[in-house]
Amino acid sequence: MIDLNLLKTGADSLGVVLDDKALERFDAYAELLVFWNERINLTAITDPEGIVKKHFLDSLALLKYCDIKSDAKMIDVGTGAGFPGLAIKIARPDIDITLMDSTQKKLTVIEDIMKKIDLDANIIHSRAEEAGHDDTLREQYDFATARAVSNLRDLTEYCLPFVTIGGSFISMKGADAKAELADAEHAIEILGGKVIKFDEYELDGCGERAIINISKVSNTPDKYPRPKGKMQKQPL
Ligand code: SAM
Repeated sequence: MIDLNLLKTGADSLGVVLDDKALERFDAYAELLVFWNERINLTAITDPEGIVKKHFLDSLALLKYCDIKSDAKMIDVGTGAGFPGLAIKIARPDIDITLMDSTQKKLTVIEDIMKKIDLDANIIHSRAEEAGHDDTLREQYDFATARAVSNLRDLTEYCLPFVTIGGSFISMKGADAKAELADAEHAIEILGGKVIKFDEYELDGCGERAIINISKVSNTPDKYPRPKGKMQKQPL
């Protein structure tokens, strides 16, 4: 259904090589996304070119700006219909991906897609602020990532607890990234993070994007993440 040449050349320009199997999986993913979107509201982007550029290539840009070593453990918080986590898994099946979302019906769709494209990922139905206190998940990941879930300050509180010291929280943001970063600086420090890289780029005619790499330099204090209401009442 999608233009595989557009996807392949777009991925090439990000330094991501997609083999025939990956292209086949992306094609099936796009079809299933459209199929499920008619039943469950997953995304406003359903045209083939939009899916390639604004979902698949946008997600794969993470691999251009961050060096993810082979077999790394990564958690995608608020994955929705699988962005960026499932797209990254298709391009890099070696990465051990966990897809987390608070909405079960989206995860049911993800499970169906994973089964049909014959890929494995760990799927967790939870709110990040609860899962962040689970010892089997806390400080267990080399990377946490998230796209379009919350402002950077709250998102750092959601995501950094999952990351092991020496790992990174990689936030995928739009045009407001600099202002969000300014608002989040205090939170990042309190939560044990340090911004080590900030990349801004244009997504092939689709607008400005930014990827912020926040390294985990010390343990996140036990009281974080806090419940969402508390985050809102007492922003860090
Ligand atoms: N990351 C996907 C993308 O870029 O297309 C989905 C973005 S969607 C706007 C936000 C997703 O985050 C939703 O699927 C929602 O259920 C999930 N979400 C919001 N707050 C969450 C939380 N505290 N913990 C886990 N998931 C959350």
